[in-house]
Order: sequence, then C-alpha cells, then structure tokens
Amino acid sequence: MEDVFAFADQLGPTKVLHIHEPSASLKAVLVVDNVAAGPSIGGIRMAPDVSTEECFRLARAMTLKNAAAGLPHGGGKAVVYGDPKMAPPDKERLMRALACALRDVREYILAPDMGTDEACMAWINDEIGRVVGLPREVGGIPLDEIGATGWGLSHAADIATRQCGMALEGARLVVQGFGAVGRHAARFLVEKGARLVGASDSRGTAYASDGLSIETLIELKQAGKSVTEHPGVDQLRRDAVVDVECDIWIPAARPDVINETNVDRLKTKLVVQGANIPVTGEAERRLHERGVLCVPDFIANAGGVICAAMEYQGATETSAMAAIEEKVRANTHQVLEDATRRRVMPRVAAMALALERVTRAMSFRRWSVF
Ligand code: NAD
Repeated sequence: MEDVFAFADQLGPTKVLHIHEPSASLKAVLVVDNVAAGPSIGGIRMAPDVSTEECFRLARAMTLKNAAAGLPHGGGKAVVYGDPKMAPPDKERLMRALACALRDVREYILAPDMGTDEACMAWINDEIGRVVGLPREVGGIPLDEIGATGWGLSHAADIATRQCGMALEGARLVVQGFGAVGRHAARFLVEKGARLVGASDSRGTAYASDGLSIETLIELKQAGKSVTEHPGVDQLRRDAVVDVECDIWIPAARPDVINETNVDRLKTKLVVQGANIPVTGEAERRLHERGVLCVPDFIANAGGVICAAMEYQGATETSAMAAIEEKVRANTHQVLEDATRRRVMPRVAAMALALERVTRAMSFRRWSVF
C-alpha cells in the first residue's frame, strides 16, 4: 500500500485529499502543501494519467513559486482523472462535483491548469466562488489575452540584460514557442527595442537577421498558420531555433527543451525561462559554467500567478500589470544580485529566496504548515 506520508517534509503537505464521487465519475486528488503565507493558489489539471505524486510535486512547485513572487499565498494543486476533451456537459458535471467536494477546503483557491479553462472556472464560481482565472464577464482578468506572463518575462529580461552588461535596445532575441507566453514576451521586448531574429512553433523556425515583424507573426498565428510563413524569412527546422545566434533566448514551449544533447549548440548570453522547467538541471549547470546567465522559470514566468492573485483581490487589469512589473523586476534583481554575491547559480539563489520567505511566514504561525 502507498505510504500516505511519503511526501511529508518540513514544508508540507498539510492536507492530501482523495475525492471520489461515483455518480459523477469523479476521481480527483487535492494536495494543499504549505499555507503559512496564506491560502494556497494552484491550478486544476485534468488528464487520464495524473497521480497523487504528480499532484504533490506541482503543489510544492506552487509553494515555492508563490513565495518567490512575494504573494500572500501558499501552494496547492488538484488533479482530476479524465480526458480533457470529454463532452462539455460531462466536463461541467465533473467540475461542479469537484467544486462541491472542495466547498469547505478554505485553504485552497481553485485555478485553471492543463485540461481546464475559464469556462470550468466559471462553473466552479457558480457553485462555491473561491476561484481565479474567470472569464472577464464574471470578474476575471484574461491573463493569456493580455500577456501577463510575457509582460513579466520582458521585465526579467530587462533587468538581466543590465546584469550582463548589454542594452535591450538592439539586442538580438529568439523565442521558442509562439503561444500565449512567447508571442507577448516577444511583443513587449520588441517594443523596448529588441530585434526578434528567430521565432519557432511546433511546425518550424523563422529566421531573419534584420528582424521579423511581430504584427505579421501574430496575424499568422491568429489565422492558424505557422511562423515559418512570414514572408522573406529563412525557413528552418523546428529544433534549429536552438542554433540561432542571439543575445536573449526565451524558451516558451515545452519542458526539457534544452538538455545534455543540445545545450552546447545554444549561442546566447542570456536565457529567460518562460516555459516551466525548459532547461534540465545538468544543462543549466553547463550554461552557468559557460557564463550564460539563466533567469529561472519560477522567477521569470511568475506573471501569470501574480495576475491570478490580483484577480482574487478584485484588482483591475492595469493594477495587475503594475504588480507584475514591480514584483518580477524586484525578484529578478534580488536573485541575480544574491547569485553574484554568493557565487552560485541563479536557481540556487532563487530557491534560497523562496525557502527563506516560506520559513519566515511559518515562523509567525502557531502551527508551521497550516
Ligand atoms: P501555448 O499552448 O499558448 O503555446 C505554446 C507554443 O509552443 C505554441 O505556439 C506551439 O506551437 C509551440 N510549441 C509546442 N511544441 C514546440 C516545440 N517543440 N518547439 C517549438 N514550439 C513548440 O502555451 P503557453 O500558455 O504559451 O505556455 C507555454 C509554456 O509556458 C508552458 O510550458 C506553460 O506551462 C508555461 N507557462 C505558461 C504560463 C501562462 O501564463 N500561460 C505561465 C507560466 C508558465
């Protein structure tokens, strides 16, 4: 039998809840990790092959990400066993059942993740409230539409370029993945003077040494086409995006895209991590040894969760964007300074910052993790 305390350590989790409601075919797991800083925020992931262990790991990642972002929220996560492409009426029943099952778990604020969207959040809102990532019509801030995470990345890049002794103005930029995160990061950085020389999606890479047009790329993607259809560019293979020489390289697609097999091909001064865990641990160490600065994912891509936390407080879009700018700039600055002073990798400094904030929040509480 699985040891239910297998994941327990000094930080949590405070609660692991297995939920079963046969009448709605609902099987789900909730992990509330550490709520010393405040009620946990973390998304609901729906997939046929989720597990309690995955749920715990994701919840812990949220504890650290929320703490690093300086939010008054702990980390939690829910996973639902099921096919996210099921018929909408079945999905609605499942989401409403999940909401009812979690009605009294006040230390968890529900949010979207892979396999759930703003419609799911609206059904949950209708049942119990205590949810973020809502449609605009019921008080949500559409974070992918406004580019919350890309906005934060552009500020992380701005701070980090200074640390590398280069200017954003004229810096050559490459973005892997031209979805919600990548296209907005590119748009904001081009507005700040960077030159987008390479962009890729799942179908290929577009390269132009004198710069790609952001407007054209966004129009192509909105029309369901590939970035490689940009007129007058070199069309390269999808993974050739790794070889494009640049000053700033932004992964905004999938995990582990930079690994031991391709890290030595990367010719850049700075990697600002938009996707979650886009660089393996070993590859990140190799980049550090070569003097390539890496801004870790949970510092650089925190814009989305900061936006969600602001939505929960009833903030406007404008104040959410201002909070992202302030927090991501301050945290990037602190992490890079600490890393330089302590002569460690930025990820080590970022972990220390997150742990210090969680531990300090715990020190004010009668019980350490709840
Ligand atoms: P998305 O689905 O909107 O976009 C992903 C893009 O990557 C698409 O353009 C797709 O064509 C492209 N892509 C997929 N596989 C690729 C490959 N192998 N090579 C090149 N391009 C590829 O997703 P998103 O919301 O932009 O998220 C991107 C990443 O950022 C994910 O890892 C996600 O977990 C992470 N993230 C997203 C947010 C957010 O606010 N949306 C916040 C933090 C982290």
